[in-house]
Amino acid sequence: MGFRSQNKLFKQRRGRLAIWYAGVMGGILSISALGMYEAIAHAHRITIDREVESVAGTLHDSIEPLLKEPGKLEPEINQLLPNLCLLTAPCFHNTIDNQRHIASKINLSDNYYIHFVNISGELVAIAGNFIPASVRLTETEPKWYTLKDNQNIRYRQITLPLHTKNNQDWGYLQIGRNQSDFDDYVGAVRWIILVGLPLIMLLVGIASWWLAALAMEPIYQSYQQMQQFTADAAHELRTPLAAVGATVESSLQLPSLNEDEARCTLEVVQRQNNRLSQLVGDLLLLAGMERPDLPVATGELIILQDIVNDIAEELAALAREANVELVVDFNLSSELQVRGNEAQLYRMVANLVTNAINYTPREGKVTLILDRCHGFALIKVKDTGIGIGMKDKSRIFERFYRAGEDRSRKTGGFGLGLPIAKAISNSHGGSIEVESELDKGSTFTVRLPIYSTTHKNLSSC
Ligand code: ADP
Repeated sequence: MGFRSQNKLFKQRRGRLAIWYAGVMGGILSISALGMYEAIAHAHRITIDREVESVAGTLHDSIEPLLKEPGKLEPEINQLLPNLCLLTAPCFHNTIDNQRHIASKINLSDNYYIHFVNISGELVAIAGNFIPASVRLTETEPKWYTLKDNQNIRYRQITLPLHTKNNQDWGYLQIGRNQSDFDDYVGAVRWIILVGLPLIMLLVGIASWWLAALAMEPIYQSYQQMQQFTADAAHELRTPLAAVGATVESSLQLPSLNEDEARCTLEVVQRQNNRLSQLVGDLLLLAGMERPDLPVATGELIILQDIVNDIAEELAALAREANVELVVDFNLSSELQVRGNEAQLYRMVANLVTNAINYTPREGKVTLILDRCHGFALIKVKDTGIGIGMKDKSRIFERFYRAGEDRSRKTGGFGLGLPIAKAISNSHGGSIEVESELDKGSTFTVRLPIYSTTHKNLSSC
């Protein structure tokens, strides 16, 4: 089960993390949406300006050669712009085929209007039906204007100076384009962003909540492991301390202590003290193994045959006592060398062999095998013991885990032997694995990288 329903602190942290995620992602998304909107609007502005400029240029170039007198429009211009309205005369629409006129070619009547303004700023003629009320028609500067009519339709207008054929100043040509089609499109984009953004923010919020849980999960797991470890360590420390406390208390309650009783009490204290020292030593070793700066890779050169032989010799008495046969089986032509810490490697193999002896019934056999495979040295500890069940196999490398408290109790172990072995093999760049069958026996295999690169002659694995 996750931490969601369990821990207030983690729930609060998750909430804060989710708010941060949502805030940052929402901010980035909003800025992106704003940028996208601006880019679209800008592209439209440029498109409309180019179109108006090109239409205005064409008209200007077509009209100028027809102008003779400043402020006066020649009848030929009426032919060019069939819907032209002179303000000094009634509107005049001739019947010449529109297709032949430049204005009809550019669909002037639909989207465009044209104003002819004389040099004194008076409107002379218009084509199209828009006369902007809000802006004086005499405005000839700046070149570009955006105007609005009373229906709020926007027009983009350009003003170009007109000259007669003889290069006299005639006045100005103002051409405007109704930009409602572009405004509608940009308006639709704005609506999509306004409606879509809150929806996206909602999704971002949900995703952030989920992502925050994902990010916190490993932290919560290590927090739980730490809590479990503290509880287990306290539990293991309590047992010897309680034993010492009870022994000392019962001794103190006696009116007097003879030498045997005092010795007995001290022996209990010593035994429990040894246990405590061993536990603290193991914990310190494990804590030390977790430091990432351990210089194992550059450690001393160790010959594995020596370690295995030494352990077999050292634990021979324990095996004899347990009535278990302890044999060494390696048939290697050369030394197997690894780099690392000799004391730690010794401890690792000793833990495995001690376990094998402890968990093998009388008359059983423990075999220590040394081999080499694909650049790795293999140390195998094989026994004909009680074996490990499937359920326990995945957990025996956890700290303080003991498969079946009752069978471990008599060995007096803390459940730290295998975690220590695993930590040592890991810190030497190796690994440890177990194969086991209940009531048949177990084989623990440690793989360590061989130091020497000259041993290319690999045996089958
Ligand atoms: P302990 O100190 O209890 O032996 P370990 O970490 O060394 O702790 O081992 C963890 C558990 O794995 C033990 O409690 C034991 O049940 C099981 N185990 C380890 N080695 C063997 C083995 N060779 N055969 C059967 N069970 C084993």
